[in-house]
Parts: sequence; structure tokens; C-alpha cells
Amino acid sequence: MKQLDLFTGKESDYKPDLIHHYSNFETPQDLEFLLVRLNVVEVGLLYLGDKIKKRPISVNYQGLCPFHKEKTPSFFCKPHQNRYVCYGCGEKGGPLSLDYKLGDRIYSSIAQKAGIDNLLPSLSGLHLLPASQDLSETKNEYITVIAEALEKEGEKLNYFF
Ligand SMILES: [Zn+2]
Repeated sequence: MKQLDLFTGKESDYKPDLIHHYSNFETPQDLEFLLVRLNVVEVGLLYLGDKIKKRPISVNYQGLCPFHKEKTPSFFCKPHQNRYVCYGCGEKGGPLSLDYKLGDRIYSSIAQKAGIDNLLPSLSGLHLLPASQDLSETKNEYITVIAEALEKEGEKLNYFF
């Protein structure tokens, strides 16, 4: 499986352990720092591997959409915008929501490490608990960091009280 080297912009066979990397944090600030760097191409390659290919004259990756059945590839991962979009079905978003929708591996590993896996959504429509006085301050901060990352990706979160 080819991997995009985000430092050189070249493809290589180097496979970083993404799930371990993004759950390697000790504080909510660490997590925030990591999530800013999560790239949609890394996530796309993690789940779709060779099913998405770098386009010849572009930095973008293209492949068959994992969200709907199609014969002509209309799914794009765009590293510079850090967004994915399917021009067939309209599914779009950022790296964390792509992970969430394709298998939840990074997301659930983060939630587990933060000790909030029982509080986070088993989503459709993303339900997050609001800051609660019953939770430790740290857990509230983790939830806030994740919620902000998802909102920045354009996900509409539903809070329930
Ligand atoms: Zn699609």
C-alpha cells in the first residue's frame, strides 16, 4: 500500500501507525495539537488503500466512493484543503469525520485513550454530551477538543441535555 509522505509530498511504502500516533497524547492540549495535523489523505489511504490513487498532475487523490455505488470514480481526498468530497453523492467533510464514517478506528482509539469512549457518539448525526458537571474537567476538555475538531470539519453536532 502506498502512503503519502506529507513532508516530501512523495509516495512511499512507509506506513506509519496512524492509530497509535493519534492516540499518543497525555493532555487535551496534546490531542488538539495532533488533530490539527490529521490529514484526509492519511485517513483515506488507511481505509481505502490502493482504491484511491494520486492524480497525475494534482496533489489530490481520487477513487471510487466508499459511500455510494459507482463505476466512475468521483470521490476525492484533497490534502491541501484537508477535505474529502464525492461529486456523485455529495458526501464531504474532513479527516476525523472520514475516519468516523469509514470505521471509527482513529476516533474510537482517541476516545478510549481519553477515557470518554462511553460518552461519545455511536453516531448517526453525532451526539455529544455537553460539558457536564458530573465529569472531570479533563474529560470535559477532551470532549470539547473533539467536538471543535468535528465542527471545524463542518459536521453538525447534536447536543442533548
Ligand atoms: Zn459518493
